[in-house]
Amino acid sequence: MTRFIFVAGGVISGVGKGVATASIAKILQSKGFRVSAVKIDPYVNVDAGTLNPLEHGEVFVTNDGTECDQDIGNYERFLDRDFSSVNYITTGRIYQAVIQRERNLEYNGKTVEVVLHIPLEVISRIKKAAEHDKADFVLVEVGGTVGDYQNVLFLEAGRMMKREMPDQVMFVLVTYLPVPGKLGEMKTKPTQHAVRWLNSAGIQPDIIIARSEFVVDEPRKQKISDFCNVDASDVISAPDVDAIYEIPLNFEQDELGKRILEKFKMKEDSRDLKEWRKLVEIIKSPKEKVRIGIVGKYFEIGDFTLMDSYLSVIEAVKHASWAYQRDPEITWLSAEKYESEDKSLEELREFDGIIVPGGFGSRGTEGKINAIRFCREQKIPYFGLCLGLQLAVIEFSRNVCGLKDATSREFAKHTNAAVIDIMPDQKTLLEEKKYGASMRLGAYACKLTPGTIAASAYGANEISERHRHRYEVNNEYRTLLEEKGFMVSGLNPERNLVEIMELSGHPFFLGTQFHPELKSRPLHPHALFMKFIAASMKKRQL
Ligand code: GLN
Repeated sequence: MTRFIFVAGGVISGVGKGVATASIAKILQSKGFRVSAVKIDPYVNVDAGTLNPLEHGEVFVTNDGTECDQDIGNYERFLDRDFSSVNYITTGRIYQAVIQRERNLEYNGKTVEVVLHIPLEVISRIKKAAEHDKADFVLVEVGGTVGDYQNVLFLEAGRMMKREMPDQVMFVLVTYLPVPGKLGEMKTKPTQHAVRWLNSAGIQPDIIIARSEFVVDEPRKQKISDFCNVDASDVISAPDVDAIYEIPLNFEQDELGKRILEKFKMKEDSRDLKEWRKLVEIIKSPKEKVRIGIVGKYFEIGDFTLMDSYLSVIEAVKHASWAYQRDPEITWLSAEKYESEDKSLEELREFDGIIVPGGFGSRGTEGKINAIRFCREQKIPYFGLCLGLQLAVIEFSRNVCGLKDATSREFAKHTNAAVIDIMPDQKTLLEEKKYGASMRLGAYACKLTPGTIAASAYGANEISERHRHRYEVNNEYRTLLEEKGFMVSGLNPERNLVEIMELSGHPFFLGTQFHPELKSRPLHPHALFMKFIAASMKKRQL
């Protein structure tokens, strides 16, 4: 029998509903249960693939090639297991399915209505995820904030499920308790209003997770209890933390897992978060630094720096650094500043390693190419992810192989020096304007070349990694690149596509066509990130 825990957010967006959901899931998993999760995004986009990273943050990609929300990444990292398309719902996906069904006459001539048919489709998908993942628990994270117009039908689905199986459904509300500077007191009123909103959707929260800058004290818990119809012990304090991986431990301090099991009349298991605790101890202990610079372009919005666009990259750097008992210090370097001033490149020396992550379009690419050249020539460890590999190939072709016009077909349609070219099947898709979910997506095999850094990192002959791109290294230039020392260390066997390249005679100059960051987990850091951080640590000692 599966239990369903809906997690909704109140008061403000960005309170950390995603990590709260992942943390609850982690706690239940640590008690020996099979746990799954579903993320519901209220946008009409069918998936996150067509969204600008500055708008949406990182697009996470699962093994089956679903372009989804970064919260799915959090679920994977916390639970250390893979998710897939069944774990991701959007308004677009729901309407698309209902309309298709109507066209197929599957509603037998009935009038198809927003209510009930839309919530029914949502419910059927949540149940499908439970079945697919053979889950004891399914966490259902409802995107947006209660009171939003956009997520009403998803809350309605929750209400209907509770009515259908009252003993198997529970609601958690993640709210925010502000402490206005002038008052210096933690205020519960916005939480009370958020609960009212939820009540007006016919839902009573069973548990309230009270996010705040500080620990929520007993008087405040009691007040929330009095006004919001929950026991004070069902108000879980969730103060700000330095590392998200601390959150399950914080929740457990307030015995969240126990409360959930009691409510479902289930037995507590003796297992606990032992390994996780060890990880958090390492994260919090003082350590020597490793300084990593990320040269990108998706992080400046007005006066704010948004790190969401590269979330998995940051996490992967952290995981590998922690595994070496290092404290990662990540600095954002805007690619455009390296376009003209040669002087500014000098600052790259201060870093132990440089990453150029994924990206689209030509803006910033010349700056990234200059930064890559500097890393190559100055022997600074360099790790290129997807676009970061492609630009390394362009840089090497121009400055070592003498192809001064070398570029990617993505930036110059009519070039005759496309060392990075469009994949033939992609060409037609673009001509027909079929942009949605049409890149080379998800897991593909990669055969490793023995004796290379890549092969020694993985300790395997063949691996599988996740992709999201339309362009590839042009095989016509492979011999030339290899003759000059830029070796292919990973190849896709089915289509003979370059997957990994590395430079001989450099401490670490390696690029991947896939996105290794998507598979890094805190308890299982990614092999290539481990090698990159090891090389960065070495540089630091020089
Ligand atoms: N824009 C490049 C491509 O489509 C790289 C994509 C990426 O970095 N994810 O191939």
